[in-house]
Amino acid sequence: MTTQRIIDFLNTRRPDGPCMVLDLDIVRENYLGFEKALPQSRIFYAVKANPAPEILHLLASMGSSFDTASVAEVEMALNAGATPDRISYGNTIKKERDIKRAYEYGVRLYAVDSVEEVEKVARAAPGSRVFCRILTDGAGAEWPLSRKFGCVPAMAGDVLRVAHQLGLHAYGVSFHVGSQQTDLTSWDRALEEAKTVFDDLASDGIYPSMVNMGGGFPTRYLKDVPTAQAYGEAIFESLSKHFGNRLPETIIEPGRGMVGNAGVIKAEVVLISRKADNDNVRWVYLDIGKFGGLAETMDEAIRYQIVTSHDGGETEPSVLAGPTCDSADVMYEKTPYPLPVSLTIGDEVLIEGTGAYTTTYSAVAFNGFEPLRAYII
Ligand SMILES: *Cc1c(COP(=O)(O)O)cnc(C)c1O
Repeated sequence: MTTQRIIDFLNTRRPDGPCMVLDLDIVRENYLGFEKALPQSRIFYAVKANPAPEILHLLASMGSSFDTASVAEVEMALNAGATPDRISYGNTIKKERDIKRAYEYGVRLYAVDSVEEVEKVARAAPGSRVFCRILTDGAGAEWPLSRKFGCVPAMAGDVLRVAHQLGLHAYGVSFHVGSQQTDLTSWDRALEEAKTVFDDLASDGIYPSMVNMGGGFPTRYLKDVPTAQAYGEAIFESLSKHFGNRLPETIIEPGRGMVGNAGVIKAEVVLISRKADNDNVRWVYLDIGKFGGLAETMDEAIRYQIVTSHDGGETEPSVLAGPTCDSADVMYEKTPYPLPVSLTIGDEVLIEGTGAYTTTYSAVAFNGFEPLRAYII
């Protein structure tokens, strides 16, 4: 969403080069929206989506907790004012010495998806709470998280049993239905599986009490997406369906849904050309590409809304590419992007919905291009 504040900032500051401008008012609205949609759930903002200190500080002041994936992210959350009891170390792949450092900072909540990881947590963070991540297929997600994280529900029972035996608190189960998930029923399938793990453990007298429902809440790109309210209702219904009136504590970990629509990238058209006189697609090269922050265009997974000052006029299909000398630096080619015929070299364009997974995906100096600058306003 390009807010008036963002437009005014760009018009008065006129920053040179590509940059991401993010309006904190939108983040505030998103946080309140999640709180309203899922009033029983604790919100752990997924720091990796955008770790700008201003964002973390705002969310900490609003009462948010934080999902972190490294010691550096734990430190960022602490520096933003979060107390350690509001930090989850949610990565299932941690070095034992990093677990120890997080433990020394006071973090007592860890994700696991294997007995091997449980053993590390038991040694480095004794007595802590652990939750076991279960696999989901990511169906319906535009940015599926595939099979890298989680184990099958039957194994999750064993993982949590070992945790219990090793003196950890077998706290619960987590899942992530895939990022940019627009299928409301995917939480239902995951919650059903989470309940099987609860039942499995109950037969051994172990009673987990928490379900971490992960992220996946979408940002609007080209197509409309359901509101946070719609997600909240669907999830609450599924929780009641599977857990009856013994509802577990729940956590959500929105990343994209918290910050995606709050940021806009300003970019510039560097070249418009064709590969042959009779070529029926144009190539439009921007001063930002896959290595400058638009990594989620990989496999053309995320299709951003691009706004130009010529919108409304006739369009033609364009291959959209970045400025680096790597042939992988093409954003949209299989499905060319309709851009105005009158677009010209030197024009500025706005790439909307780029508040999440952009600044941190930008390379440090590939081809000498500086990392994506961010202005948090
Ligand atoms: C990345 C991540 C999230 C955030 O996912 P979004 O789809 O951006 O909401 C939440 N939880 C975990 C464990 C993650 O790795």
